[in-house]
Amino acid sequence: MTLSATGAFELAAADGSARAGVLRTAHGEVETPVFMPVGTKATVKTLHPDEVHALGAEIVLGNAYHLHFRPGDELIRDLGGLHAFMGWDRPILTDSGGFQVFSLRDTIARVDDDGVTFRNVYDGAESRFTPELSARIQANLGSDIAMCLDEVPPAGVSRRRLEDSVRRTTEWARRQLSADRADGQLRFGITQGGIDTELRRRSTEEIAELDFDGNAIGGLAIGEERAATFEATELSAALLPADRPRYFMGIGDPEGILEVIAAGVDMFDCVLPTRTARTGSALTSEGRLNLRNARFARDSGPLEEGCDCTACTRFTRAYIRHLVNQNELLGLRLLSLHNLRFVITLTRGARDAIAAGRFASYKRDRLETLTWA
Ligand SMILES: [Zn+2]
Repeated sequence: MTLSATGAFELAAADGSARAGVLRTAHGEVETPVFMPVGTKATVKTLHPDEVHALGAEIVLGNAYHLHFRPGDELIRDLGGLHAFMGWDRPILTDSGGFQVFSLRDTIARVDDDGVTFRNVYDGAESRFTPELSARIQANLGSDIAMCLDEVPPAGVSRRRLEDSVRRTTEWARRQLSADRADGQLRFGITQGGIDTELRRRSTEEIAELDFDGNAIGGLAIGEERAATFEATELSAALLPADRPRYFMGIGDPEGILEVIAAGVDMFDCVLPTRTARTGSALTSEGRLNLRNARFARDSGPLEEGCDCTACTRFTRAYIRHLVNQNELLGLRLLSLHNLRFVITLTRGARDAIAAGRFASYKRDRLETLTWA
């Protein structure tokens, strides 16, 4: 057992580079590796918090960008903070807003060393994010883990621009460390550098040196080749301190989850399970099933054989297909419940396998049975 300097993370087992651990937060413990459902606007879309917890979720994400503009982080603070506001008394990680600002690229007016100016997506007003503001928003929200504001360049930018983003991300991380935070709030730095080996290394070493409570691997899975994503992840994970949690930002497909766990990542999030559900598709071992397909019209089986979720133990594919085709809300809810359960079960299986020292065979077996598109 290794206790980190901050006391927030304890490693319970390691198998190759893969790790199982426990992360302690102001609102409870999280067993890792962990998949974190995304609740951007203070809700995991369509689901009651009790349902989210019953799926095995121990921590959810909120988003500083969206909650700052609607309904406002000060309003949420005045109403007792994000936990009280959304009726979730377990751990919450808030994203800094960096990814949202930089992925809505055509809304950006200007990026400079002090911050980024953009038109917000709600009313188009000129807005500005700085590390200090992102810290203050997340302090107002009162999340358990606050992320640093980083500059996320798109895949395939010039080396010079990538280098700029690495430099800024480190400077901003340093500023955020001396800015506001809520009582007991953990702070995570973020590494950038795209898939450029030298820049990813530089960014990781600079962020690691700042001694955050945990560290995230950012700026990946944004359109680059998959093999390159995993190589950069391996490089970054290996350079990050072993006694702090490592968080891969934005991966939620089965192959991606297993690959980043293999690289030594402890936490990850993605909108994929819930977004896929809202398009009428289920994540299963057979791949992504589009329930609108006529071949399910008389299918009396569950979404996934053996799944213990409430959609699978009670309803048929034929029924869920009917709901989806009629735009019945229950269909989207059942698919959201199943898809999250599917990803959480896969991750939980990885934790058990790591503890038993058989992660490599677990990963191989799962990737063989999962036909994924
Ligand atoms: Zn299910």
